[in-house]
Amino acid sequence: SKVPPIILNNGVEMPQLGYGVWQVPDDEAERAVATALEAGYRSIDTAAIYGNEAGTGKAIAASALPREDIFVTTKLWNSDQGYDSTLRAFDASLEKLGLDYVDLYLIHWPLPSRDKYTDTYKAFEKLHADGRVKAIGVSNFLPEHLRRLTAQTSVVPAVNQIELHPHLQQREARAFHAEQGIATEAWSPLGQGKGLLEVPAIVAIAQKHGRTPAQVVLRWHLQLGNVVIPKSVTPSRIRENIEVFDFTLDDEDLAAISALNEDRRIGPDPATFDLG
Ligand code: NAD
Repeated sequence: SKVPPIILNNGVEMPQLGYGVWQVPDDEAERAVATALEAGYRSIDTAAIYGNEAGTGKAIAASALPREDIFVTTKLWNSDQGYDSTLRAFDASLEKLGLDYVDLYLIHWPLPSRDKYTDTYKAFEKLHADGRVKAIGVSNFLPEHLRRLTAQTSVVPAVNQIELHPHLQQREARAFHAEQGIATEAWSPLGQGKGLLEVPAIVAIAQKHGRTPAQVVLRWHLQLGNVVIPKSVTPSRIRENIEVFDFTLDDEDLAAISALNEDRRIGPDPATFDLG
């Protein structure tokens, strides 16, 4: 395959670059995911709340690819946290996807004030033990949430999917994950395209390598060891975003991008986010 895997802490292989489908309407998801699979993506990141598990599943079914060649991630939505409701929500996701297992299941947000993520994760451990999920993990967990989770449960999360891009580099979280054996997956890896791709330092590095700013930012993530899931519905950009395995940023490029950190979130703060 075009995309090399990283090995998760349970031995499962996950492509280091995948295709994210947030904000892709269900009736467009089938075509978008089909375009991504044709371009060589073998990992798809969806979520119950995105409302496009059905379209995503249709594209997977319509492709001629063996199931085991595609890595499918979905996420449990906030309103379904709790042990029994998690098991029901997982069944509903699987049904919409038209699959009999998912590769990675994530708790979408910690919602610390509701205090349900430990019970939720215990249901994840059951789904994992039953072979219906190959790997379990979390999203938007701060180190304090991970510390509590690992103290109260037995399976160390394989992945924490967090907002991460050159304006929010998450150095402490990344170091903590590395120490715990948790893979860091970057959401909004391109900073949602807003402004980041016009930053002069990034444009200059792109010109130097004969690449696009998006490719430079994705390459930076890969060289740091992050899993990335860029989103686009534009076929040429879908293809552009996976053509990042045939060039390398040098130390000077990496240092210039490191200097862009502003600890600035685009999305909500996981400590207080409590929607749904
Ligand atoms: P992103 O950083 O991937 O940016 C996507 C936007 O960047 C596109 O809509 C487009 O406007 C632009 N873009 C993409 N490719 C481009 C290119 N080659 N050239 C120029 N512009 C380009 O943002 P995202 O969609 O927020 O994040 C990616 C994925 O992360 C989502 O689809 C979703 O799967 C996941 N995600 C997860 C969470 C979570 O809470 N776990 C939150 C947000 C996103």
